[in-house]
Amino acid sequence: APAATAELSGGRQPDARKARAPHDSHKGSFGDVAVIGGEGLQARGMGMTGAAWLAASAALHGGAGRVMVALLDDGQTLAPPWPELMLRRVDALDWPQVTAVCGCGGGEAVRAVLPTVLAQAARLVLDADGLNAVASDNALAAALRQRAHAGLPTVLTPHPLEAARLLQCTAAQVQADRLAAAQALAERYACSVVLKGSGSIIATPGQLPRINPTGNARLATAGTGDVLAGLIGARLAQGLAPHAAACSAVLAHGAAADHWPDDRSLTASALAAFLQ
Ligand code: AMP
Ligand code: MG
Repeated sequence: APAATAELSGGRQPDARKARAPHDSHKGSFGDVAVIGGEGLQARGMGMTGAAWLAASAALHGGAGRVMVALLDDGQTLAPPWPELMLRRVDALDWPQVTAVCGCGGGEAVRAVLPTVLAQAARLVLDADGLNAVASDNALAAALRQRAHAGLPTVLTPHPLEAARLLQCTAAQVQADRLAAAQALAERYACSVVLKGSGSIIATPGQLPRINPTGNARLATAGTGDVLAGLIGARLAQGLAPHAAACSAVLAHGAAADHWPDDRSLTASALAAFLQ
């Protein structure tokens, strides 16, 4: 069945899926992803803009119809590193259409846009700086929970330290029972959760949790988490439900690392391009 295939097959699938799509499909048929994060010129010295570009590249290669990047601060003056990407101001995004990928870079500036993103994004992947903001702000945590009541799909992508901040415990406690930690987060925020690391866990209230069998220590390098967030965004934008979108993306992300050529080291930007 197509749904099971989408969840269980790794590797290169977006172009095959597009080839099977109705002939009169157009770029709007495959969904809009908006990456909200990064930082502009002020923070370029800190090297934070790369996270947003990596997530955007993964969303493009993952098959999203259109990918927009809203850089916080003064980033609008930067040229995008690929011509396919569109720069947008956060306040110019068409929220009811948008799958937002938020928190890949952006630092404290993410906090200011999160009330809008949480209330309005049609679908949402929340990573890194977005998760840290929610962990330290009760109003943002309440707004995140409110998305489930509004029927708006959400996937959280914490690594163990980010999960520990959200659960107010230590990373060692998260690692001691990763399944319980992922399920506790899914229940607390009423959404899907990917607890990253060796054997990533995907948990969603009311669904069987999954432990990802793919991936290896090659992924332990800067930026691979941003690539995963963008890929989940592409899957959500193409209409997969959060649990299936997270399972499919985590599986494909790990499978790409498992099929990586032995004579090349894995970098996040090469990983994004390899996903297709
Ligand atoms: P982040 O911690 O946000 O940089 O994300 C790192 C990404 O690489 C996540 O998708 C992790 O699941 C993955 N990853 C890191 N180390 C390993 C590992 N040893 N085995 C499998 N996946 C890993
Ligand atoms: Mg990360």
